[in-house]
Amino acid sequence: MSQRSLKLVLSAAILFLEACAGFRETTRKTHDPRFLGPTERLIVNRGGATEPMDVVKNDNPGGDTFLRESAAPIDTDDKALPQLVARMFATVKAEKGVGIAAPQVGVSRQVIVVQRLDREPEKPFVVYLNPEINWSSEETAVEWEGCLSIPAGHGKVKRAAAVVVEYDTEDGGRDSERVSGFVARIFQHEIDHLDGVLFIDKMDPGPLMPKEEYREMRRREKESREGAEKTIKDTMMELKAK
Ligand code: ZN
Repeated sequence: MSQRSLKLVLSAAILFLEACAGFRETTRKTHDPRFLGPTERLIVNRGGATEPMDVVKNDNPGGDTFLRESAAPIDTDDKALPQLVARMFATVKAEKGVGIAAPQVGVSRQVIVVQRLDREPEKPFVVYLNPEINWSSEETAVEWEGCLSIPAGHGKVKRAAAVVVEYDTEDGGRDSERVSGFVARIFQHEIDHLDGVLFIDKMDPGPLMPKEEYREMRRREKESREGAEKTIKDTMMELKAK
């Protein structure tokens, strides 16, 4: 290779790397001020720590545009952070959700709350700050999903069966954890919110299943599952009695 063509290849490679860096900057605002701004603090302090916040819906005026923004990182020393986290807990519980991301309560910051359904028996809600997915399994799973911000209904979404999540802890440390199953799905759904991505962008083509219809389907599934379990139990009892 001549020196000239080597130079060309090198400058093309540098341009490519710069483009990648630029792309990263636009998908995650890594250079924003990390403390909450006055408007964000106003939203957070508008109610008490146990008071749920208003959920931004994609069919509210301006709701979809807001949910499509990339969230900025949060400084773990932010004085308003404990209040935001407490109110996100209150909100996700009041709405009977299994997870929530700060943009859904009008604060475009990298904060998510996930219900750890894998931690029996408490199944606690846990907060994760500036979370990122570091690794995704090749194995995928398709499951129904809904979203507190999408009142229109539910859809089936294909996601990685397991992921490794890296995140800041409330005391300022950095930690990571491998999760799988439905909890891995919750993490992926909530972290998507931080990139302005909604589950409807990833779901199977076709209309959403309305919430009422979905609840009815789940109720019927539960009934038939319980029916099958009862039949097994009765058969076992009969066999024991013989
Ligand atoms: Zn959601």
